[in-house]
Amino acid sequence: MPSLEDTLHRTFGYSSFRPLQREIMEASLAGRDVFALLPTGGGKSLCFQLPALIRPGLTVVVSPLIALMKDQVDQLQAAGVSATFLNSTLGAAESKSRLRGLHNGEYRLLYVAPERLMLDNWRDNLLSWNVSALAIDEAHCISEWGHDFRPEYRQIAKLRDLLPDIPVTALTATATERVRDDIVKHLKLRDPEIFVASFNRPNLLYRVIAKDQPAKQIADFVSSRREESGIVYCATRATTERVADALSNRGLTARPYHAGLSAEERALNQELFLRDEVRIICATIAFGMGINKPNVRWVLHYDLPKNVEGYYQETGRAGRDSLPSDCLLLFSPGDAAKQMHFIDEMTNPKEKQIARDQLRQMLEYAETSHCRRQSLLRYFGEDVDETNCEGCDNCLEPRETYDGTIPAQKFLSCILRIRKATPFGVGMNHIIEVLTGAETEKVRKWGHDTLSTYGIGKDLPRPEWAAIGRELLRLGFVQQTAGEYPQWEITEAGLEVLKSRRMISLTKPLASPRKRARSR
Ligand code: ADP
Ligand code: ZN
Repeated sequence: MPSLEDTLHRTFGYSSFRPLQREIMEASLAGRDVFALLPTGGGKSLCFQLPALIRPGLTVVVSPLIALMKDQVDQLQAAGVSATFLNSTLGAAESKSRLRGLHNGEYRLLYVAPERLMLDNWRDNLLSWNVSALAIDEAHCISEWGHDFRPEYRQIAKLRDLLPDIPVTALTATATERVRDDIVKHLKLRDPEIFVASFNRPNLLYRVIAKDQPAKQIADFVSSRREESGIVYCATRATTERVADALSNRGLTARPYHAGLSAEERALNQELFLRDEVRIICATIAFGMGINKPNVRWVLHYDLPKNVEGYYQETGRAGRDSLPSDCLLLFSPGDAAKQMHFIDEMTNPKEKQIARDQLRQMLEYAETSHCRRQSLLRYFGEDVDETNCEGCDNCLEPRETYDGTIPAQKFLSCILRIRKATPFGVGMNHIIEVLTGAETEKVRKWGHDTLSTYGIGKDLPRPEWAAIGRELLRLGFVQQTAGEYPQWEITEAGLEVLKSRRMISLTKPLASPRKRARSR
């Protein structure tokens, strides 16, 4: 049997293993189920490709991305490995010939989309193909708590039942504790050996600025980086087009990328970007999965991402060559409010709660005055004790704070008054409505316009109150109930603050460059 090293050098042409690759392969070859959490670019594919060449029989790889399948199989074939894929893009004759090859035991690796696994004749096929291992790529797709849930993934468990004795390797680049548990449970992994690589990307610099003139802010950012490749992520197709046009008008090479373009146009724009003929791709999140461009120097988020996982993935496309790269998020509380509005319209309560949770975590990242790297890594369950990462705006230039005792007291006492007057809790929006003296139906119906705190917060605009509220939540002076309509309650610590009139220092909202310039 060839050794792992031999195959690594000879077939794949690499000189050494990346962190955890060897350990993952050894566990799988010893017959163990494996759960591997490796960051994007960490080399997950090799973890199942290489053992597939060492063990006898066929390794079946489940992957959600049809485009990626072809790429991986092409690369393997170029390296002399007999691999193939089956999915809906193949004609009948081609499928048939590949099936024949599988029956004849000609392949070491087979890539399939999860929906294939549900087809009836597959049970017999799989049983007759001498399947000796199963790899599940992008395993987070099995969890509703992930950012990319695919119901078809739930079918994979049937494979495990069908082939109870073969080792299963589940791989992903994004999994919180919750998603990890889901993967283990739904894939029915048996006492899996768990491998988690660090998610820290020391060469990435994380920054957040207030979004106030986004077109100009992007142009300024990009003009000083004319020779560099970068990605602008936008929430909508229309925005990608608009931003690409605006940048092109300034003499930069920029192209849009989104699911509304024809397949040819998408492939062309991507190709031009990969070849450095176009410097900037303005894209929706449809862009990037599996794109392996090492010299992306920056990733800019024009809109607030829906969740931290997605944000980490998207920023992770910068600096794969380990050279310093920039990640910039343009943040406006208005974007958050817009998303909140969409979430409120959701009808499925579970989805709603997940989306709300995810948005809250994203806001925590955007508004934190602490280390952003730490905030990201904590999200992935990684503990970091560095006090200054030297690679985020908050560490490089600590955020200004101000004496926020009075607004904090107003906010907290408003909750208290409402709770005394009403037998039920209320959400943050309502508290702010009372604070700012809004004349809403609920305010009138519940008589909250007669409270002493009604209108005492007219001096500040609503988004600012929302930011203060969120900071009080982060500081632990209020807490939010779980469930579809989260209610805000004052905590013991909050009561203490009100009673003792202790000073509370709050973080100044992100200053936009324009406002900063004026105050200088
Ligand atoms: P992931 O799926 O974890 O994002 P990939 O499997 O696509 O990562 O691998 C990322 C890149 O790293 C690929 O270009 C791959 O060929 C390369 N790679 C993987 N393992 C090694 C290794 N041991 N040495 C050098 N390059 C590697
Ligand atoms: Zn930091």
